[in-house]
Amino acid sequence: MKSQDIRNTFLNFFEEKKHSIVQSAPMVLKDDPTLMFVNSGMAPFKEYFLGNAQPKNNRLTDSQKCLRVSGKHNDLEEVGYDTYHHTLFEMLGNWSFGDYFRKEAIAWAWELLTERFGIDKDILYVSVFEGDEEDGIPMDQEAYDFWKGYISEDRILMGNKKDNFWEMGDQGPCGPCSEIHVDIRSAEEKAKVDGKTLVNMDHPQVVEIWNLVFMQYNRKANGSLENLPAKHIDTGMGFERLCMVMQGVQSNYDTDVFTPIIREIETITDKEYGKNEKVDVAIRVISDHVRAVAFSIADGQLPSNTGAGYVIRRILRRAVRYGFTFLDKKEPFIYRLVEVLVKQMGKAFPELKVQRQLIENVIKEEETSFLRTLDQGLVLLDRIIENSKTKEISGAKVFELKDTYGFPEDLTGLILRENGFTYNHSDFEKKLKEQQQRGKEASQLKSDDWTVLVEDEEQEFIGYDTLEAQVKIVKYRKVTSKKDGELYQLVFNMTPFYAEGGGQVGDKGYLEDAQGNIVYIIDTKRENNVAVHFAKNLPKNVNETFKASVDAKQRSRTESNHTATHLLHQALREVLGTHVEQKGSAVHSKYLRFDFSHFSKLTVEELRDVEDFVNRRIDGKLPLQEKRNIPMQQAIDEGAMALFGEKYGDTVRAVRFGQSIELCGGTHVKNTGDIWHFKIVSEGAVAAGIRRIEAITSDAVKDFYFENNRAYFEMKDLLNNVKEPVKALQSLQDENTTLKKQIEGLLKDKAKSIKGDLKNEITEINGINFLAKKLDLDAAGIKDVCFELGSQFDNLFLLFGAENDGKAILSCYISKELVASKGLNAGTIVRELGKHIQGGGGGQPFFATAGGKNPDGIEAALKAAENYLK
Ligand code: ATP
Ligand code: MG
Repeated sequence: MKSQDIRNTFLNFFEEKKHSIVQSAPMVLKDDPTLMFVNSGMAPFKEYFLGNAQPKNNRLTDSQKCLRVSGKHNDLEEVGYDTYHHTLFEMLGNWSFGDYFRKEAIAWAWELLTERFGIDKDILYVSVFEGDEEDGIPMDQEAYDFWKGYISEDRILMGNKKDNFWEMGDQGPCGPCSEIHVDIRSAEEKAKVDGKTLVNMDHPQVVEIWNLVFMQYNRKANGSLENLPAKHIDTGMGFERLCMVMQGVQSNYDTDVFTPIIREIETITDKEYGKNEKVDVAIRVISDHVRAVAFSIADGQLPSNTGAGYVIRRILRRAVRYGFTFLDKKEPFIYRLVEVLVKQMGKAFPELKVQRQLIENVIKEEETSFLRTLDQGLVLLDRIIENSKTKEISGAKVFELKDTYGFPEDLTGLILRENGFTYNHSDFEKKLKEQQQRGKEASQLKSDDWTVLVEDEEQEFIGYDTLEAQVKIVKYRKVTSKKDGELYQLVFNMTPFYAEGGGQVGDKGYLEDAQGNIVYIIDTKRENNVAVHFAKNLPKNVNETFKASVDAKQRSRTESNHTATHLLHQALREVLGTHVEQKGSAVHSKYLRFDFSHFSKLTVEELRDVEDFVNRRIDGKLPLQEKRNIPMQQAIDEGAMALFGEKYGDTVRAVRFGQSIELCGGTHVKNTGDIWHFKIVSEGAVAAGIRRIEAITSDAVKDFYFENNRAYFEMKDLLNNVKEPVKALQSLQDENTTLKKQIEGLLKDKAKSIKGDLKNEITEINGINFLAKKLDLDAAGIKDVCFELGSQFDNLFLLFGAENDGKAILSCYISKELVASKGLNAGTIVRELGKHIQGGGGGQPFFATAGGKNPDGIEAALKAAENYLK
């Protein structure tokens, strides 16, 4: 069965069991502070498990893109070395939200695997939670009894907390689980070793394929468990592993999910898969990583220097380095695999197909720049090897190479070994740990349990229509972090505060009680679909009703910038073309930032056209036309554009100004006329094929013009209020150039005459022709004089001082024969005498100059020069 059909069979099976098929959510998470990427099928459904929102159907099924490269689930270092862990993989899942539980989950998993897919029962094992004393949970007898109805008891294994108790995080929903494992070894091997002993033992052919989680507890901050009000089913089956079983092969990489990419790597690199272990690892790494990187870029997460972007950059760099070292590829080639990947996956994941060009460009650019880094690193490493007195390089050096230059540790190790060197590994580890610890401490957030004041409240956002409301606190908790100290998070029954999202910043404002006491809200953020308000302290009586007020000025400036962002998006597609896609947006009160795909710098004309386009729509006074709860399809039909990497609900909000229609949850001006004016302040590149525009609106534009105007009048004032200041400036500049030339000529003449006078002042001391004197010349003039006199006198020692613009210089000239015979060195002398003028300098033994900030010391320095003649 082809992989395409395997995926469809799974989804259709559960559709028959009354589940709704849903699309994979984007991999990059936007409103979950605990997670960077979706790392399991349940992550996008957290809000349902937590009861913050209701799914359209309490039975869902999907294939979710997952990435396990950071945090709690990190398989990155395994990938390539084993044959069944990937960075990016698909997790097939069926979901029950307070609907069916253990019985159906087990029955359907069994039916699907053994009947629909026809997998032989005798290669399957299942596991059941053995219980845990500390948590006070007994063995999962219920699951055991259901399994007993399908599979012989010697194939039911007991599992411990690590393998058979699933937790969302340190806090939150959790529960026991049953895993399903396959044993796909040959009959001979099975005869030799009992498969049962290999389950969960990292054997490449005895692997877990499916995990059925019975979510029934909630883990509290103090570590204790309570029962969840509604029980849920969360299952996850590794799609690539299922394909391996179904296609009768021994490795995920031998399924048709990977073979086309592997064939392409073989062609490009002229290497063969399956002949040499090192080459094989490299090929697996690259075929895996190109998928992770391509999908991330398609979801809007570009490689960068921080956060999620940095994780993606590191994955790509890992691939480049394996290609560099083991496949001898010293030029970019990974981007060339994208075409095959798109052919293979583009149908199930159209975001890849549409953005192929961008994905290729970004990967190519990253490859190029990292290969350059590798080259530089090699040079640095050569130098380290050359200069090392021992055969062991310090861990600190290796760490510096990695940290400062991005040169990977294992590559350093490899090259050192090739040169007969080693490095101090434990030292390196220590440095790395220290760094990680620093990062952790800075970002660590400790949260207390929520104190719930009002049960079962679903929060409502009323901030589209009002900036003020009477609210009650539904729940609150304390959070502590190194960065922000102690803060309180408050959730209201309804809120006029906009929570950060869709690029728009969160609202600020305050809560006021009946006595007029005020608590400031310093930020509002969305967490698992709930608006969380941040306050430095708690109100005196949390049970009161409060007046909640949003900072109206900040909100209205932010709204101007948000609406302008939509108009800018429209303008860019109009002026540059429809290849322009939004790649990032930040809407602040002071400015807006918009990233978009486009391949060249915008010309002055294009920028002007874009500005004009937006300003015409502002002048046109277009009213906001908002549709709050329309089906997604209707919005698309009406011309709204969905963005890649955004997660949309079944119903959406469409925001329209004239011909600009966007799916958007943000807040906007009521009429484009409120924006007053739009001004682009910068345009530049962020990455290959991605440009960034920063712009301002309303008050900020007024400030901008006001500032410019003030500067203009100041300039005009300086120019004695001439009529045409630009012309006046131009002629001033011309005049300046002419004068400079004249001065240069005059100084030369002056130097000439000074030289004549100086000749007569040179005196002979101990056989040395000596002169120390303060001159009225610049450094170039002094140098000229020195060399001129040097050509006329033997055994010459000159020290000249000068004062220019309040600064001191000392120049010393010593004839070459003196340098040799008397061991005099002008460089050393100016350095020593430089102390008198509070400065330093250097140069060659026969001519050197020092600069300093104390002209008053020149005389003393000149006087001290005589000491060198003795
Ligand atoms: P393993 O012990 O093999 O790492 P896991 O216990 O981490 O698996 P779960 O978190 O239960 O796995 O995920 C559910 C399913 O997803 C697994 O049964 C497996 O089929 C699949 N899976 C997990 N991690 C990966 C991965 N890195 N690559 C491919 N498939 C995976
Ligand atoms: Mg794992």
